[in-house]
Amino acid sequence: MLRLSREAYTVGWLCALPLSELVAAMKMLDDEHEPLNLEIEDENTYVYGSINKHNVVIACMPPGQPGKVSAARLIQPLSHSFPNMRIHLFVGIGGGVPQSVVLQDPERDIHLGDVVVGWPDLTGAPAVVQYDLIERQGDDVEMQRLLSTSEKPDRKLLSALGLLMAKHVGGRKHFSQHLQKLNDLVDFKYPGVERDKLYASTSPHIAGPTCEKCSPDHVILRESRKLPAQPKFHQGTILCGDSVMKDARKRDELSAKYFNAICFEMEAAGVIDQKHCLVIRGISDYCDGHKNGSWQSYAAATAAAFAREFLYTIQPSTVRELPHVAETAVVAGNTNFNASNDILAHQLSLYASQPSPPDGRIGLKTISCPQIKTADLVFVHGLTGNRETTWTHDYTNFFWPYTITEDIRSACVTTFGYKTDQSIFVGKSDSSAVLDCARNLLESLLQHRKSHEDVPLMFIAHGIGGHICEQALLLCKESLELRKLRSSTCAIMFFDTPHSGDILAQPKLAFEKYFTGLPMNAKESISESLPSSSDLFQRLESEFKQLLQHTHGQIKIFDWPSLEEQRTSATNVTDLVSTRQSVTTQFKHADAAKCSNKQDKGYDFALRNIRKRMYEMPQSVAGILDT
Ligand SMILES: [Zn+2]
Repeated sequence: MLRLSREAYTVGWLCALPLSELVAAMKMLDDEHEPLNLEIEDENTYVYGSINKHNVVIACMPPGQPGKVSAARLIQPLSHSFPNMRIHLFVGIGGGVPQSVVLQDPERDIHLGDVVVGWPDLTGAPAVVQYDLIERQGDDVEMQRLLSTSEKPDRKLLSALGLLMAKHVGGRKHFSQHLQKLNDLVDFKYPGVERDKLYASTSPHIAGPTCEKCSPDHVILRESRKLPAQPKFHQGTILCGDSVMKDARKRDELSAKYFNAICFEMEAAGVIDQKHCLVIRGISDYCDGHKNGSWQSYAAATAAAFAREFLYTIQPSTVRELPHVAETAVVAGNTNFNASNDILAHQLSLYASQPSPPDGRIGLKTISCPQIKTADLVFVHGLTGNRETTWTHDYTNFFWPYTITEDIRSACVTTFGYKTDQSIFVGKSDSSAVLDCARNLLESLLQHRKSHEDVPLMFIAHGIGGHICEQALLLCKESLELRKLRSSTCAIMFFDTPHSGDILAQPKLAFEKYFTGLPMNAKESISESLPSSSDLFQRLESEFKQLLQHTHGQIKIFDWPSLEEQRTSATNVTDLVSTRQSVTTQFKHADAAKCSNKQDKGYDFALRNIRKRMYEMPQSVAGILDT
């Protein structure tokens, strides 16, 4: 098998269902390549190969984890692990919206097994719309406009798609050849026109795995296509939501409301950067109560064959001319920066000596940014994870920062990432890595909070992330903007961060926990340099203690694991330190900030205390009422 470098891969092929979509994707490869060893941070498993000389990596979500959060987590490491990545193809199944206007034109209506491509049109209809987010915003016209004018796919991608569509008007020889690559798999064969039944939208499904008991009188009689086994291609708007659409009336209502959308699915909204992305869906059901799995494999096959034909239409040289996925992400970030803001510009120039590398895991990532915000929650991870994995349960994949946005709709939630090469965290005293991270955090926060600088700010931190937050708040005396940021800070919630008490008593023990699970040689070099590191942390802790006294309880401290919420004020700091000393840890440090589900005690602790603190803040009262 051929083995290429990471730099050779330019196309990411993403799918959600291992047993149908992934199987079909792998069958579409001309050649399979030898797998590469990637950085441990990238938790995806890839299949490597080529199609028409495009080098392709295929990535699939873990079983049973559909939805846009999973999709975002799948796509995020791609540009980091493969620096020359140019396009992402989201290839899989979706639900079709029958077109009542053209119902009697079988060649134009949507049938099972057809392929839908998300395609923006001249009237401004976008390729993909996240409808449930818009529904949540109510009648806010401005927000609807923002959410529905997402970036359009690159013109080169669209013109290749146009060519592909045009070829199909003339004949479909190639497409059938691509589909034949799955001929040896019985499950992926065309199920037969007699099994493609469209029920009236008012017709209920009678319980059972098939439609055996459903009334045949409710089946809409449609004229047959000339060649029913040959799928048609459609282009239009795809609606993406967090739940499976299986309600025909809701389907029709939403389609009419949003650009006469022709397809529903659950993953594409995880792809924030639609410029480089095409969403290709094989239609496996009609989004009604009658949906079942019988067309799933064939629909996955037609979508995969379409994607393969697309890669045979666009040439590798054209793909290489497209901008890097990672590059444009950086450019997009810069355009948000308002250079006329002199104070901010000055702040940024102070920190310009520590530029953030263009890494998918560095900086603030937005989980939810509602228009009306009553709290700004910022998650800061520790050394054992990144801005996603630290907060994601290993088995249930429960990513609780996202669930917080569902439980507190008015919370703006972001998660901050930084390089976690542990060797840079020890043995430095003057220009410490904690200081660098704290500065990057402040820089990101100033930019992020430009539109809502008065909204109460809470940090939620794991392990060493807690020290980064403390250091950041200590730096806030440097300018007016930063002092404002500090005066809006109302809490830090620490997950297994050792504090003054622990550090003074047992510095070695307090720090070793940060490095559990690391290779032995790393541990050795760390324990050698521990004396200077613990000096640094002791100094940090004692300065932070003074800050807490100075701010008279405005910044509340919450500790997990803890016996109960611990309040700070000028009068009980000594009590606080001694309480912390007695707290014993029943968790592995790396798991301390992971919750298995909404019933997890850690999640309950976080949600309860965030709500409580929000309620205590005068600005937040209105926001609490909507949750
Ligand atoms: Zn039925």
